[in-house]
Amino acid sequence: MQQGDVTSVSSTGAPRSAVLGVLGGGQLGRMMALAAANLGVRMKCLDPTPDAPAAVAAEHMEGHFRDAQAIEDFVKSKGVDVLTMEIEHINTDALMQAAKDVKVDIEPSPETIRVIQDKFAQKQHFAAAGVPLPEFRNIKCRGCMEATGKAFGYPFMLKAKRLAYDGKGNYVVKTEADIDAAAAALGGYEAGLYAEKFAPFVKELAVMVVRNRDGGVVSYPLVETIHKNNICHVTEAPADVPPAVQANARAVAEKAIACLSGAGIFGVEMFLLGDGTILLNEVAPRPHNSGHYTMDGCVTSQFENHVRAVLGWPLGETRLNAGCAIMLNLLGEADGDEGVRIAHETMAKAYTIPGAKVHWYGKDGMKVGRKVGHINIVANTREEARAKLAQLDAGGLASLQ
Ligand code: ATP
Ligand code: MG
Ligand code: MG
Repeated sequence: MQQGDVTSVSSTGAPRSAVLGVLGGGQLGRMMALAAANLGVRMKCLDPTPDAPAAVAAEHMEGHFRDAQAIEDFVKSKGVDVLTMEIEHINTDALMQAAKDVKVDIEPSPETIRVIQDKFAQKQHFAAAGVPLPEFRNIKCRGCMEATGKAFGYPFMLKAKRLAYDGKGNYVVKTEADIDAAAAALGGYEAGLYAEKFAPFVKELAVMVVRNRDGGVVSYPLVETIHKNNICHVTEAPADVPPAVQANARAVAEKAIACLSGAGIFGVEMFLLGDGTILLNEVAPRPHNSGHYTMDGCVTSQFENHVRAVLGWPLGETRLNAGCAIMLNLLGEADGDEGVRIAHETMAKAYTIPGAKVHWYGKDGMKVGRKVGHINIVANTREEARAKLAQLDAGGLASLQ
């Protein structure tokens, strides 16, 4: 225990001398660790990378978050009271075992992680709770694919049930002739596949929702997300849609998170169709790229609220603290030094723009497409925020209009 560490929040029954353990120590863990440090909470992380970005503010133990023994050693040797995660692709059997053996409090619950990490199980869970979704069905064989093409029409989405990220694990099946290539690209029928009807969206939206230990949920403002090559590129909050759509999207997101268990922050990705319909795409049980704007744009960041939620503390306010908040991801434009030079150029521009804030992840090594940081722009109006974005990234601005 270091001098000044928070030992309890008396009125809420939060754990005394809480040590927060986090599975994963990438950029999400790093931003969580910085938020935790500001709250006087000691964070420790388990990550296989020697120079994990979270180590800047968390005690880092080398080990894999999918390795059951490593998780158990981490919890025991580091005296973890509350265990959470910055990635959903973890070993949930090990989590459940750890909950029994070492009696660590895991937030959100291992059951929630298990449902979410299998995108088909996730869809089934939300469908049963009445959350609006694109139609979906299990795919076990070539015949199922043909039948799906007839039922859904073309194109439809073929998706891997597990280990998907940044669109890796998705295939757009455009015609019957694509069926074999689609299945092969995703590892074959035995790998675990399912299909979704294509959602003809006019915008992609997202909402961060924070869930407390009693199951109460509070949402953040609605965000529009713009992707480039399936990777989040720009977000704008509040999304430029009518108030009724904003309210409905937040209600759908809250409904989805209310039917899970355990505390923490969740990212909810959605589609807006031309007639105003909102459909849920997927949920992440952790801080999310579409919530990075909250670090400068909202009263309480998604990272701070995650720490407060998992420790059982009162949640912070989620409202915007200015009219508009835009986030621009810094994605590697080239490998190695050239990529670093380009990113630093954008950062240097940001330092000259009032209301622009740089967040650098301190990753070891630069690669094309790698998320290496982001810039938040906070302004009184949407027009002002967009004008500032234009100074940093003209392409990002074009995609918002
Ligand atoms: P992430 O990095 O967000 O975890 P992922 O690999 O899990 O992504 P999805 O979110 O399932 O992938 O899909 C990636 C993108 O593909 C979506 O943001 C959307 O643009 C498109 N997409 C996914 N499902 C559909 C659908 N049913 N209809 C139309 N487009 C879709
Ligand atoms: Mg995903
Ligand atoms: Mg997604």
